[in-house]
Amino acid sequence: MTTASSHVGLTSHPGSIFKEALPIRWGAADPALRGPVVATMTNRSHRNAIGTHSGSYSVYRALATAAGDLTPEHRPDLTNTNPVVDIGPFDSWKDPSKMVSIDPWGASVATVFRDHLEGGYDIRPTIAVTKAHMLMPEITEAIAKGRLHIDGKIIRPQGDIAVTKAALDPVWYLPGIAARFGVDEGDLRRVLFEETGGMFPELITRPDLKVLLPPIGSTTVYMFGDPRAISDPSKKLTLRVHDECNGSDVFGSDICTCRPYLCHGIEEAVRSAQEGGAGCIVYYRKEGRALGEVTKFLVYNARKRQAGGDSAATYFHRTECVAGVQDMRFQELMPDALHWLGITKIDRLISMSDMKHDAIVGSGIRVLERVPIPDGLIPKDAQVEMEAKKAAGYFTTDEVKGNDALQQVKGRGLDE
Ligand SMILES: [Zn+2]
Repeated sequence: MTTASSHVGLTSHPGSIFKEALPIRWGAADPALRGPVVATMTNRSHRNAIGTHSGSYSVYRALATAAGDLTPEHRPDLTNTNPVVDIGPFDSWKDPSKMVSIDPWGASVATVFRDHLEGGYDIRPTIAVTKAHMLMPEITEAIAKGRLHIDGKIIRPQGDIAVTKAALDPVWYLPGIAARFGVDEGDLRRVLFEETGGMFPELITRPDLKVLLPPIGSTTVYMFGDPRAISDPSKKLTLRVHDECNGSDVFGSDICTCRPYLCHGIEEAVRSAQEGGAGCIVYYRKEGRALGEVTKFLVYNARKRQAGGDSAATYFHRTECVAGVQDMRFQELMPDALHWLGITKIDRLISMSDMKHDAIVGSGIRVLERVPIPDGLIPKDAQVEMEAKKAAGYFTTDEVKGNDALQQVKGRGLDE
């Protein structure tokens, strides 16, 4: 017997296509015409999107509700939560093909959709913009060695960096995502439904709902200097797009170059801001090439235990043996965050990734200079990764090693 409290009402029932749900016209220049994305569960008849807010954290919200800590009817009080600086609107916001994985109006829902909010619609921000100070030992060292100077404003008197930062939750416009990957929207929806264990039936049953808030990680933008300079083509912009690597970024693991390159990017971004331009780090939650940390650690073991030991010659092959592919980051969606920022050209791109470079340029942003990681910042055990990537087409000014030479680039054993 199904009890009343355990009964689940699926919005996939044809009778659930509610008249109160507002239409979304993706890419419409006027937000009033575009319409708000309503993905909350407080009034199901208002929903015009699949999935719900906060990406993967929606599961914790469900736990908090299940545990009785959170009432399902709770609506956020948005008093004083508005962005500390205004970003946009830019021309890129009015092009439905430029941004398909971010809602450009996600930071300003409280102003642009005020009437709907006052009318009872539970519209939530998918972007938040705040300010912070950053203290990093690598920056302290750069100041001590004279590579950066305290200017009192961007680098504060105590050596901390003033930064404006934005958090961007994923909002996917499914026809645009399908177009970006050159696949049929119906096929994309079916595979998303199946590969998430049937998590969102509306992917199949509600083809009229075109927007999905997927349960994946967010993106964070760190802006150095005047944020207005980022979109000003007359100002110099230094930018790094960085994919999360918790082991290195936070814990200093020396098997890869992630934290050293990230810190180099921050140093260069700050320098650009101090010179009157802007600097930007865009940080994507795509741990372990979006394969996840468990897969990543399995690959580390497979690399270090293989016959002949860890070698640059087999770096990508070992990943493919475990994960089935070398990489799942899909840089095709990465430039969306740059278009939200109104970026049309990057003076200095602090990245060696050919995939990132090609995705940025392919999205219509000019890249004037690519900056490889300085040799002195590459940990010894990370030479395997670095040489393998350069051989695979990553940007470098060095000579690319052939297969024999790649076999000589060895990493540490597991017990060393
Ligand atoms: Zn790493």
